[in-house]
Amino acid sequence: MKRAINFGAGPSAIATEVLLEAQKELLDFRGSGLSIMEASHRSKLYEDIHNEAITLMRELYKIPENYEVMFIQGGASLQFAMIPMNLSKGGVAQYADTGTWSSKAIKEAKIQKLNVEVVASSKESIYNHIPSDIKFSDDADFAHITSNNTIYGTQFKEFPSTKAPLVVDASSDIFSYPIDWSKVDVLFAGAQKNAGPSGVTIVIMRKDLIESGATDIPTMLQYRTYSENNSLYNTPPTFGIYIIWLIMKWIKEKGGIEAMEELNIKKAALLYDAIDNSNGFYVGHAQKDSRSLMNVSFNIKDKNAELEAKLIKETEAAGMIGLKGHRSVGGLRASIYNAMSIEGIEALVQLMEKFAKENS
Ligand SMILES: *Cc1c(COP(=O)(O)O)cnc(C)c1O
Repeated sequence: MKRAINFGAGPSAIATEVLLEAQKELLDFRGSGLSIMEASHRSKLYEDIHNEAITLMRELYKIPENYEVMFIQGGASLQFAMIPMNLSKGGVAQYADTGTWSSKAIKEAKIQKLNVEVVASSKESIYNHIPSDIKFSDDADFAHITSNNTIYGTQFKEFPSTKAPLVVDASSDIFSYPIDWSKVDVLFAGAQKNAGPSGVTIVIMRKDLIESGATDIPTMLQYRTYSENNSLYNTPPTFGIYIIWLIMKWIKEKGGIEAMEELNIKKAALLYDAIDNSNGFYVGHAQKDSRSLMNVSFNIKDKNAELEAKLIKETEAAGMIGLKGHRSVGGLRASIYNAMSIEGIEALVQLMEKFAKENS
């Protein structure tokens, strides 16, 4: 069996141990004679997994009691609409525009005709940094940030302080470092980058915000529907939640989210060092103080598209996939989520160094 070294941005790598575990119990889960996929979402067999996934998540991510953990479908993109639908009180909705995903969130709030304010933006510089002067109003209905900008490779090092409910789109860095919940009121993530397969969105929200949310919107768009029914109001994406459970167990085995962070810092340093020590052959897209530990976007000197294509070809020949950068930045992007091993990154760095030597 050959496993690719998967640098894809999402859906992205899942640890081989996790997939092997899923394979092992695919036909007969816990002696039931059923695949977990075939089990009723009302069965004890499934509900135990569902609840264990939430319990483990609470334990590892240190989620306070007054926050709810919910599984919702529709991707992170549906959250762009659900957040304003539920949290808007007719006041102002504030956003920091740090990339494509922030601007998509802003677009959804505008569709709902909210009073939208963009308090900071790095759009002019192709989103190559997180603005340092982000100030949200304490009386905003909510304040929205994207903790990690998947395309541009920038990441908040510290969340802005505000009394307004802070909403964090953590789709590409959930579970990669511990969260200071005293600063965060809502955190959501499509699972497919760092937490599982596509089809599940994890939403962690302060309970009082759920309770005071709008009631004049469709049932499936109200957070209380998920909260009051333990995300079992209708059929949840059971197989995806099962894989999330396996991944939570895997994170625990590896030493928890603190250990993930430690490893992620080491992993990212290897790549950024390779860029910084290349005598200008490689040029990182993000400014140094905004660099993401999850997505490393870079170009070859003078945005040499020919050489970039050649390098991508060589990575593919070496069993690496998913390194082509997003069209808005070009070049290459290495997505190095929790499941990317240090060996995978070392292989890429080695290839990059050799390529620079041969092509400078
Ligand atoms: C991928 C991504 C999204 C979109 O997620 P979907 O689940 O495809 O809707 C939103 N925000 C960020 C930061 C992302 O990386």
